[in-house]
Amino acid sequence: MTRPLDPATREALVERMRFYRDLGLTDFYRRPVDAALTTDADAPDPASEPLASSHHPAEVGAPGLASETWDSSPQPSFLAEEPAISARKGFSPPPQIAAAVPAAGRAAALQLIRDDIGDCTRCALHQGRNKLVFADGDPNARLMFVGEGPGADEDAQGLPFVGRAGQLLNNMIAAMGLRREQVFIANVVKCRPPGNRTPEPEEANTCLPFLFRQIDVVRPEVLVALGATAATYLLGARQPLAGLRGRVHSVRGARLIVTYHPAYLLRDPRQKKEAWADLQIAMRELGLEPSSRA
Ligand code: SF4
Repeated sequence: MTRPLDPATREALVERMRFYRDLGLTDFYRRPVDAALTTDADAPDPASEPLASSHHPAEVGAPGLASETWDSSPQPSFLAEEPAISARKGFSPPPQIAAAVPAAGRAAALQLIRDDIGDCTRCALHQGRNKLVFADGDPNARLMFVGEGPGADEDAQGLPFVGRAGQLLNNMIAAMGLRREQVFIANVVKCRPPGNRTPEPEEANTCLPFLFRQIDVVRPEVLVALGATAATYLLGARQPLAGLRGRVHSVRGARLIVTYHPAYLLRDPRQKKEAWADLQIAMRELGLEPSSRA
């Protein structure tokens, strides 16, 4: 028999999963539980009990890249709300980099991409969409930010990064000495995933060619990936965020810097200092001087 988690524990677990997801950690293992340690006389044999219903957060193994044993049991219910914690899947090979578009023609070229997307039903995310979120900013920007996907505010307005996380991103851009209108902002997926979950690989891979086309048109000198999902799909490889930060990568002719997603920074403001260090790398690559501290 399964025991439901109390709401507070369940919420704590979900938050913890989000925290790990934002760090790019998606693989978890479960330690065997010593039955003698449980105080619940009715508790079933842990070897036969589903994880979600019977284990305190402390019993869930730390996320690991090298784990001792891998849990192949069905996904527990609290993780079902976070499909980001799903099995690894392959990445579609990126398309060839398109020919450069003259600066004067970039707005029209972006409009062509938007027209191609149309009233898109290519992946399941269209079902819950209110407004498709294409992009925002200067088609000739030197700096481009790439996020994961629209949230509720973005879905309502049809623009990327317009909620609380968007306000923080605006502040980050201002700290770099730029205005939002001077950069270009887009997401891996153009439609809001239900419940703000991470896009499934099939959804992200379906939408990704549009992002690559946007990058090819804008031709930013520097790309900033906001969070693990953006970094994963831009680089075509799943790696922990910690291993990607602090370095300059190369994607479609642009230099790529990886940092935390603003939504993660809202949940853990202590990491803003780290994000600022990442943005300073981007500024160095662009030859910019900071106007103020983040
Ligand atoms: Fe189409 Fe992308 Fe929206 Fe999926 S997320 S429906 S591929 S625009």
